[in-house]
Amino acid sequence: MTETKRCPWCTDSDTLMQKYHDHEWGKLNLDEKHLYEMLVLESFQSGLSWSTVLHKRSNFRKAFNDFDLLTVAKMDETDITRLMQDSSIIRNRMKITAAINNAKMILKIEVTQGSFAQYLQQFVKTPIVHHFENTESLPTTNSVATDLARQMKKDGFSFVGPVTIYSYLQSIGLINDHLEYCVFKYHG
Ligand SMILES: [Zn+2]
Repeated sequence: MTETKRCPWCTDSDTLMQKYHDHEWGKLNLDEKHLYEMLVLESFQSGLSWSTVLHKRSNFRKAFNDFDLLTVAKMDETDITRLMQDSSIIRNRMKITAAINNAKMILKIEVTQGSFAQYLQQFVKTPIVHHFENTESLPTTNSVATDLARQMKKDGFSFVGPVTIYSYLQSIGLINDHLEYCVFKYHG
């Protein structure tokens, strides 16, 4: 039996992580709702493990109305209080507030610039494919992520540091950081 070679952070014991690694991470998906969902999940991940967030993903979907931008953008203080009592998600007022704020910012960009995807592609025109051999070589951020994070902050987004934005670009496939030997590098 031949072993399927994957990036080492993805272990057999966590099927959810494996599925995410195999079919989403590093694979280009610029659907507006997906772009928003991943931005929320990445901002909630700050300070926690990705596995923790991923295992709560379906709860986040419920809590944030399936990541419907229009609905979330209308959430108010009552919703924040309700979400702060929802133990199925990560209860962090700043992150919850950021998720609502960022929905508003994406909607604003859709009006002024056509789509959030186009906005992101001003910084990354075509996906960046790195060719690292081991996890130790993977950067936590780069100049593109730093520039984009700076612009997003300027445009009113919150919880968008350069490290979060680098992870975000990986999650939506604008950066492909599968290691060279990973069989899912080009076949996600
Ligand atoms: Zn991989």
